[in-house]
Amino acid sequence: MTPINCQQCGGLLPYRIQPDRLFKCHECGNLLHWRDIDLDGSEVWAVDAEGTLGYVTDPAVSLAEMAEAVEEYLETPAGIRGGLATLLQKHSTALMALLDAREAGIKAPAAYTWSQVYAAVNEGADTVIDSLELGEPETDAINLAANAAIACLEKPGISFEEMVENNYSVDTPDEIRSWWGWGK
Ligand SMILES: [Zn+2]
Repeated sequence: MTPINCQQCGGLLPYRIQPDRLFKCHECGNLLHWRDIDLDGSEVWAVDAEGTLGYVTDPAVSLAEMAEAVEEYLETPAGIRGGLATLLQKHSTALMALLDAREAGIKAPAAYTWSQVYAAVNEGADTVIDSLELGEPETDAINLAANAAIACLEKPGISFEEMVENNYSVDTPDEIRSWWGWGK
């Protein structure tokens, strides 16, 4: 696992997880939400047993690399297997990355990333809103459902109240109930 250090202060200590599930830089106090962890598509974040934040290669990427190395080896005619060492090296590197990820607790290949799901839910809502002649109440309700879906992804079983508090700048959830006479 490669530790992730704070970009705010360029500190030398990696972020550490807190009980509220935010990551904290203990040099400048900067807090990081996991959805703001910026990685390229072939990496996934992980937290080790000490609570340190880091990243590892996505196991799906390692497995694909290993399969590719084996495939290339098998396709190489028997007489000219000079590239064997290179292919074994490629396989070995991918295997080490896979084991590193397992050690950090990342076992199953990641299916969809958070940002892919976020984009899909919002695009789905926009597709419906843009394609139909909806009034403001319907549009608001569809956006509420999209925000609630993302909130459930983060915290399954989240209440309406908590979802509203996290996503809307209203004083109380009842403010939303007062929209369009929706209260119940
Ligand atoms: Zn910092």
